[in-house]
Formats: sequence, structure tokens, C-alpha cells
Amino acid sequence: MKQIKTWLNESTYTSPLSPGCKMCSDGSKLVILITGLCPSNCYYCPLSKEKLGKDRIFADEWELTDESDTEKIIMEAEYIDATGAGITGGDPLIVWQRTKKYITLLKERFGPNFHIHLYTSGLKNNNYIENLVSSGLDEIRFHPMPNQWNKMDSSPILNSVNNAIDTGVDVAIEIPSIPKMEKQIISLVKWGDKKAIKWINLNELEFSETNAEAINKKDFTVKDDISAAIKGSQDTAYNVINLASNVDLNIGVHYCSSSFKDGIQLKRRIIRRAKNIAKKPDIITKDGTLIKGVIYTNKKTITYLANLLLKDYKIKNYEIYINKEKNRIEINPELLEKIAQNLKKIGLKCYIIEEYPTADRLEVERTPI
Ligand code: SF4
Repeated sequence: MKQIKTWLNESTYTSPLSPGCKMCSDGSKLVILITGLCPSNCYYCPLSKEKLGKDRIFADEWELTDESDTEKIIMEAEYIDATGAGITGGDPLIVWQRTKKYITLLKERFGPNFHIHLYTSGLKNNNYIENLVSSGLDEIRFHPMPNQWNKMDSSPILNSVNNAIDTGVDVAIEIPSIPKMEKQIISLVKWGDKKAIKWINLNELEFSETNAEAINKKDFTVKDDISAAIKGSQDTAYNVINLASNVDLNIGVHYCSSSFKDGIQLKRRIIRRAKNIAKKPDIITKDGTLIKGVIYTNKKTITYLANLLLKDYKIKNYEIYINKEKNRIEINPELLEKIAQNLKKIGLKCYIIEEYPTADRLEVERTPI
């Protein structure tokens, strides 16, 4: 009998666990969405409308202008002190040359220990897997369709999986934990074990703007009011792990909860980025968001206003950041509270804002003062 290890935020696993998952939990895996194109059409696909079926590229939240805009990939990896990257989609094998280019780039820049895994439907271009492995790919995660889980020997991806195993790369399976599909998932786990697949990741199934209609048709509901996770998905994963731990299997089974993704992986990645990109006047919260005092102005007067603040209020150079992109001056929030009344008298708008340190700088809150 294998030991079931409880991890953070309701995630559990039996060993072995992918080194990629350990890095993810540290927030040190860069997520490259290499294309929104995919030959599969899963009803539960969580990809947003803006990405699904579109050939767009993102390094975490940062969109690349085009395939050659690789500087953003390197910068984003540096901003989060990445120790590895997960290449996802869509399906990276659809743009296998781009995938090869990025694997080569990352390995050259960050060295051979920079762990790279990719996720694929395995339906197209599987003859290039060997090529990607020779460029440095460390792990490949296949996503078979649910109707294949209990008959993998006749699955359309059988050849892809066999090809991958022959290369010696770590081969894994990654699927959503669909409620009440324990029997099919266990069958898949046992098949994977016989094939010497290293581990299987079961993701908690979630509602998204694009899959909500299809998921509703299956009569699934959310597990609680504050989560997009689907009721029963976690129980199914736990049942599978319990069953798998009672059989003598080498394959690792890992359940990744929705709250693990948001509350651990994403949060830690954000905290890492905040530490590297925060400006001197910013306050970093425990969640990694940035609190700023901002004074809005315009292109013509921004430098004049900055000089005024330096002179009249004796603000030090390092206490002020001129954000020309957003036409605003950023200073420490506590400092702004002290001088806001005077600035408002001369018609300036002052706010305390909280925003993510991510490339999209998503604003969470804005309070006028
Ligand atoms: S294989 Fe993945 S990316 Fe492609 S449609 Fe299915 S869930 Fe979406």
C-alpha cells in the first residue's frame, strides 16, 4: 500500500510527483501559453474566449507581439526568478517549431536544469516529439479524451505516447477529474502504470466563461459560492487516489485542486514578481499586490509636477516614480495621504490604488483621497 501525502490547499498525491509540480507550488514555473490553437474540442476546455482558437502567445500574463518577441519570455522568467517553464495551449505540438525554438532559447539562457514540461492532446505532429526532446524537453503530459480513458490501447494518441516513451523523456498524463468517472480514471491509471508512465495529474474541474454552457448541460454545479470548482470533482480524485494507493503501482497520482492553483501557485508567482518589479515607493502586500499612492496629471505637466513635489514637499528622488505610460506620479501611499488635500486644491486627482504586479497590472481597488 502506498502512502497518500497531503499537500497544500486540499491537494494530495502518491509518489512520484513531477519536479515540474514542485516548482509550480513554489511559484517558480513560467507559464507559456504558446498558442490557443488545438485540434481537440473538449467540452470542459477552460481557455478564455480571447485565447481559445486564436494563435496568440503569452508569457504568464504578458502577451508577445509575435513569435519573435522572445525578449518578453526571458524578462518574465527573470521577473519571477523562474526555475522552469510549463508550455501549454491550446496544443504546443500544433506550433512545434515555435515550441522547439522556445525550449532551445530557455535552455541556452537558463541552463540544463531549467525544467521544461509541455502539455498536449497528442493528436497532431507527434512525430516531432523526439525533436523537441533532443532540444531539451524534460517532461511531456498527454491529455487523452474522456471516452478513451478505459480503452487507451485503441486510442488515437497511442502512437504519440509510445513515441514519447521511446525517447526516454518523462511521460505523464494530465486530465480533469470529472465527477463520477472513477472507474474510467482508475482504468487509465492502471494502463499508464503498465506503460511505465511516470505520473498522472488530476485537475479539479472548473467552470469558465467558455465551458459554462456545456458543463451546465451535464448537470454539474459549483462546489460552493466562492469557487468556480465543480462539486464532486475533488471527491472523484480522492476516490481514485485511495483506490490507486491500495494497488501495487509505480505510477504517481496527483490531485491538483483549484484552490492550490489560485492560492498557492499563482499567489507565490505573484509574490516573486512583486519583489522584483516593485518600485521603491510601493508597498507589497502579503498577497503580492502593490499599494501605490498615485497623482494623475498629463504628458505636458508630469515632469513639472514631479519637480514641484521634490522641491515643495521635500520628497526624495527615490520616493517618487514618474509613470509616463499612465500619466501619473507614484509615491508612497502614506506620504500621499499627508499632501493630498493640498494637491487637490490645485485640481489634481489623488488615489490609493492596489494592483497586481503582473504584466497586465490588473487593478484590484482604487480609493480617491
Ligand atoms: S486538449 Fe486542452 S487545450 Fe485542447 S481543447 Fe482540450 S482542454 Fe482545451
